[in-house]
Amino acid sequence: MVREADGLIDLRSDTVTKPTPAMRRAMAEAEVGDDVLGDDPTVQRLQEAAAQRVGKQAALFVPSGVMANLVSLMTLTGRNEEVIVGDQSHLYTAEVGGLGIFGNVFLHVLPNLPDGTIPLERLQGAIRDAVYTPKTRVISLESTHNRCGGAALPLDYIQQVAAVAQARSVALHLDGARIFNAAIVLGVSAAQIAAPFEVVNFCFSKGLGAPVGSIVCGSAAFIQEAKRTRRMLGGGMRQAGVLAAACLVALETMVDRLAEDHAHARMLADGLANIRGIRIDPARVQTNIVIFEVDPATGWDSARLQQALAARGVLLSLSGTRLRAVTHYHITRADIEQALAVVRETTECNRSG
Ligand SMILES: *Cc1c(COP(=O)(O)O)cnc(C)c1O
Repeated sequence: MVREADGLIDLRSDTVTKPTPAMRRAMAEAEVGDDVLGDDPTVQRLQEAAAQRVGKQAALFVPSGVMANLVSLMTLTGRNEEVIVGDQSHLYTAEVGGLGIFGNVFLHVLPNLPDGTIPLERLQGAIRDAVYTPKTRVISLESTHNRCGGAALPLDYIQQVAAVAQARSVALHLDGARIFNAAIVLGVSAAQIAAPFEVVNFCFSKGLGAPVGSIVCGSAAFIQEAKRTRRMLGGGMRQAGVLAAACLVALETMVDRLAEDHAHARMLADGLANIRGIRIDPARVQTNIVIFEVDPATGWDSARLQQALAARGVLLSLSGTRLRAVTHYHITRADIEQALAVVRETTECNRSG
């Protein structure tokens, strides 16, 4: 939407989004108080709005998605317990193992399929409570699934996992950093996705464009306990209403427009599929994340291609041999056309690049 002055097409992540003018105004004018003392009316409004949005009783504002996962899972678990999690999850791949370190919680890791699911039989077989093992306390799912190309978990899959969890008295947690992207592509409400989960957290600072902030949602009793965990982790904030004000604007005005990001990602994926030497399955692209590779036969490897594209103003992120492009608020249709032209010209200008 709003072109950045530097002229870069920054597709590294939807976290690069800057606060909108409406957010900055709301921040400047926010009514605030000491939120650790429960006095900040803007934080309270945000917590109520967020809880309602995902159909939970209560919510707790936290500084980041990583802390949201920590607060959620440390509050749900105790010593000698474990969380079952996918091997491609953000929790396992991108959070420095903090849950094990701070929470004394064992991460029981099962392989994710490329669509972000973990097969039901694997989950069923993994739940344990023998005297010589950690006791399985939580299954944690992720949707949309970042490393699995932004895939949204199907509702019927979530319901099947919930039935397995419930039968074994295991809690279900959703890392819903991008839950609204999932809701849009599934054509359901975020509350419908969240319903089978005890605890759900999501980010305001990704595609919704707020500068800072995530939220943990669950029952009133759970959130009461979660406040203690947040405090322990150093996440209690004082006049946090200046941040919550931007998150309220994000929730009120930035959710529906995510569909544009999905359309742009679709365009990018289809365009990349038509470039010789780019390996991508466009059918896997459902939301705002596009993952692809370059065929080494072109003379390029992904790291060198990333550098060459960056030199021409197109920024992507790299994980192993996979390149990732994420569409967001600052990316226009014209940017996608331009990015495709740059990728085409760069890959076609052979190995000397
Ligand atoms: C970004 C992200 C997080 C962490 O959020 P931060 O705000 O970077 O701490 C957690 N889970 C998923 C799936 C994410 O994409």
